[in-house]
Amino acid sequence: MLEQKLELPSNFVITIDGPAGAGKTTISRFLANKLGYRYLDTGALYRAIALLALERHIGPADDRKLAELCKELEFKFSQSGDQTRLVVNLRDVTNLIRTPEVSMMASAVSARPVVRQCLLDVQRRLAEGGGIVAEGRDMGTVVFPGAEVKFFLDADLETRALRRWEQLRRQGVKSVSFEEVRDQIAVRDRNDSSRVLAPLQPAEDAIRIDSSKLSVQQVIEKMIQIIKERNIEA
Ligand code: C5P
Repeated sequence: MLEQKLELPSNFVITIDGPAGAGKTTISRFLANKLGYRYLDTGALYRAIALLALERHIGPADDRKLAELCKELEFKFSQSGDQTRLVVNLRDVTNLIRTPEVSMMASAVSARPVVRQCLLDVQRRLAEGGGIVAEGRDMGTVVFPGAEVKFFLDADLETRALRRWEQLRRQGVKSVSFEEVRDQIAVRDRNDSSRVLAPLQPAEDAIRIDSSKLSVQQVIEKMIQIIKERNIEA
């Protein structure tokens, strides 16, 4: 089943929201590939702003400086093999935005309305024409409320933390303990779910999938089934 190419209209928008470590990135990439769609990693945009704010010593609540920073950034995604690279103002930041420090800063700056407003326009521009799988926290609720298919991908905290910790170890980061990763994810969950603007929550019409006990292939199969049904109804 996974080998079959799925024919969809070329302009559908598919959103995948959910907390850190639920498997959004792996699943979104795979799904985009299978559909011949583009893939939009919106967390990378928040991370890029966080990285630049850290480098320029801009505090996470300094709205004026954050707004100025946002305005001067030009984001460009490019595909290199099976990796998506992010270039900001001609600088490749792909590897720099994945550190735990940047993760925490991203969670803080993403609560600021100036940052969300700036990225709202950026995300919609990047998705122009559709044919895209967009992952994040507010894809189905705020950025693409009219998306054809919306998923909310979740998993329990221990499972998500274990996935993230194993991923860091595979990338050669051995200095972080499992407990540290779990605690950081719990803090980010709390920040992301409790912020006033665009909190992490499923859209009313999102289909919820709990990936705790499912393999990547099982999640994809479930999604493909749902997308096929939607396509027939459309
Ligand atoms: O998905 P990822 O872990 O890369 O996202 C980093 C942070 O960016 C999240 O913890 C969240 O605070 C923020 N984010 C967001 N809205 C999105 C995507 C990410 O607030 N659509």
